[in-house]
Amino acid sequence: SKPAVTVLGAGDMGSALVRALLAAGYPTTVWNRTPERAKPLVAEGATQATTVAEAVEASRLVIVCLLDYKSVTEVLDTARDALAGQVLVNLTNGTQGQARELAGRYDVDYLDGGIMAVPPMIASPAAFVFYSGSRSAYDTNKPVLEVFGESIYVGTDPGFAALHDIGLLSGMYGMFVGGLHALALVTSAGIPATKFAPLLKRYVSSMTGYVDRMAEQIDKQDYAIDVTSNIAMQSAGYVNLTLSAEEQGISPELLAPLGPLMAQRVADGHGHEDLGGVVELLKKGNKK
Ligand code: NDP
Repeated sequence: SKPAVTVLGAGDMGSALVRALLAAGYPTTVWNRTPERAKPLVAEGATQATTVAEAVEASRLVIVCLLDYKSVTEVLDTARDALAGQVLVNLTNGTQGQARELAGRYDVDYLDGGIMAVPPMIASPAAFVFYSGSRSAYDTNKPVLEVFGESIYVGTDPGFAALHDIGLLSGMYGMFVGGLHALALVTSAGIPATKFAPLLKRYVSSMTGYVDRMAEQIDKQDYAIDVTSNIAMQSAGYVNLTLSAEEQGISPELLAPLGPLMAQRVADGHGHEDLGGVVELLKKGNKK
């Protein structure tokens, strides 16, 4: 028989986690601040705990998935004694610093996680979850964790799952930033977004290969490797993004910040190099 699992939080994501565990045959205890929200899960086979301590005591493995770290500490502080010796897997979104702090806050075997999926994707092949922190907690509980999607362990530093998570979200929002600007631009000229969208997807997809080259340059701190689009040229062209927005009467604010960074690299004598060198400015906090 499969080991018991406790889930604290029956929001959209917590509920998806509980459902995946039930479907995989794990006896699951759930707790939620607003008890009504967990009722549908009980109908599906979960056991509902009335207090946090009761939920924490029900299983050696305690998974927490709440809104933010403030809610996590508020909830877990009420069950400090019950937590002692348990495995705590925190799947709440937060920063690397918050994860590191939480790792030392309770007497637990701590594993932090970052879910790279929306609730309907949980337990599907498309879902993956970053984990970092206690290696033994990860190894011991891997079969349970794999229920949610592919698990990717990224190191003993409890902050590394959050760094990977936020890193991917940064890439995603960067893409959304470009997409939102592009759609504002073309629709302001009467071009339907639905007509433009396939072209946007095609071009952005074809550019993902650029990431590999940037990565190689960044690791080697050599931005002159295989340059086909030097930053002096890109910087001159980038000015036209702002000008084009102004001609259409739309705000360039989403895209504007990259312009001065590119110009700075050129001014610093790196005009013949690639765009990746901008990370050098970012890592300095862009202090000149
Ligand atoms: P929801 O808004 O659906 O649920 C929030 C949960 O947090 C509820 O269980 C809520 O309880 C609880 N909560 C909020 N504040 C407190 C508090 N002060 N004390 C106790 N409980 C509290 O969010 P999700 O379930 O979607 O998200 C949960 C976590 O999962 C977040 O960190 C999110 O970033 C992460 N995540 C979500 C994804 C998504 O697409 N949904 C994707 C990847 C990660 P109550 O019902 O009582 O309000």
